[in-house]
Amino acid sequence: MVTVSEAIQLITNNVKSSATIKRSPISGALNCVLVEDVFSPISMPPFRQSAMDGYAICSHDNMEYTVVGEVAAGSGSNPHLNPGEAVRIFTGAPVPDTADRVVIQEKVQRQDNSILLEEPFRLGANIRPVGEQLYKGDTVMAAGMRITPAGIGLLAGVGVSEVAVATKPRVAIVVTGDELKAAGESLEHGQIYESNGAMLAAVLSDKGYKDSEVLKAEDDLVVLTNTLQRALSGADVVLVSGGISVGDYDFVKTALNDLGVEQVFYKVRQKPGKPLLFGKKEQKLVFALPGNPASALSCFYVYVLLALRLWEGDKQASTRFQFAKIESNYHKKGDRAQFLKAKTGIDNTVAILDGQASSMLQSFAAADALVFLDEEVSRIEQESLVPYLNIL
Ligand code: AMP
Ligand code: MG
Repeated sequence: MVTVSEAIQLITNNVKSSATIKRSPISGALNCVLVEDVFSPISMPPFRQSAMDGYAICSHDNMEYTVVGEVAAGSGSNPHLNPGEAVRIFTGAPVPDTADRVVIQEKVQRQDNSILLEEPFRLGANIRPVGEQLYKGDTVMAAGMRITPAGIGLLAGVGVSEVAVATKPRVAIVVTGDELKAAGESLEHGQIYESNGAMLAAVLSDKGYKDSEVLKAEDDLVVLTNTLQRALSGADVVLVSGGISVGDYDFVKTALNDLGVEQVFYKVRQKPGKPLLFGKKEQKLVFALPGNPASALSCFYVYVLLALRLWEGDKQASTRFQFAKIESNYHKKGDRAQFLKAKTGIDNTVAILDGQASSMLQSFAAADALVFLDEEVSRIEQESLVPYLNIL
């Protein structure tokens, strides 16, 4: 039995980057981890660029200027200005080499072919210098960074169309339980619909892991061992649901042991999700998640996601808690740490939802946070800061 922080530490210590490298067009690289630094092929901006609509001027000693032309965005022209001359200019247009500042149109009175400035402008005003953001050759994004939508925009903006990224792990989800039926089938007495397969595939996909398959095994050691063997041979990460408790039909631990999966930890002092097992077979990772749906999902957010990110070589991978003010008093019973389904509100508040049992998903379906109460916590006063995981 380990604590929550020990479990997180054991995952961090035991999961090495195991991805291979693939080249990907940036359109397919969202949520992927970069494996090489990307250097900028150009300076950004590549030319002196107007930041505003107005007039580019070549200064002289009074406030009146003669307008001698116009430069629009995309124009290749570079008109020569003498002191006292101006060109009409627009945001994003190249500032003529001979202009020393851009005056915004709101501060100018125009009359025919001349303008009168309402106030002085400093040297370089409203001009983005060449390389203001990046010089040619600068690092645009570093290896180990995850590519966000902004990252895609940044790469596209410097003209990079392809990047080297880490492959994503293939994930096999093995659901166990003789009571489980697929949606569409009719339920006999004692049966329930299987929900963890669809849920885990969905949360994987939501976090960028699209390559998953669901396998189903009965509560039978031989069948289960064969199914797990198949899962291990075709996937990098295996998530097992159910069968990891201490019931007479809980064969997952035995089967994993028989298959040579080395146990890193079994059982975490937490609620929900106490009977969680994490193991490795060579580079392959195995999480045996409790079958209760809320336990399985909670363990996914706290532990599995961290492992998947480490597997990809994500340098920022960590289970990071944020803090918010709890909306009401809360009394934690028992000495295990707890992860509570919760909803954040405005003004940095968080409310614990009703229906925390590990078999219940209704509160989870409405939650955007898991509030973490560590072992020693018992009574929490309204308004005090509590750590939570953002799960969206
Ligand atoms: P277990 O961990 O196998 O003892 O299962 C704990 C509880 O979760 C039992 O009530 C199971 O019926 C339920 N359960 C297990 N697997 C699933 C699943 N895939 N979908 C929905 N409920 C499940
Ligand atoms: Mg079971």
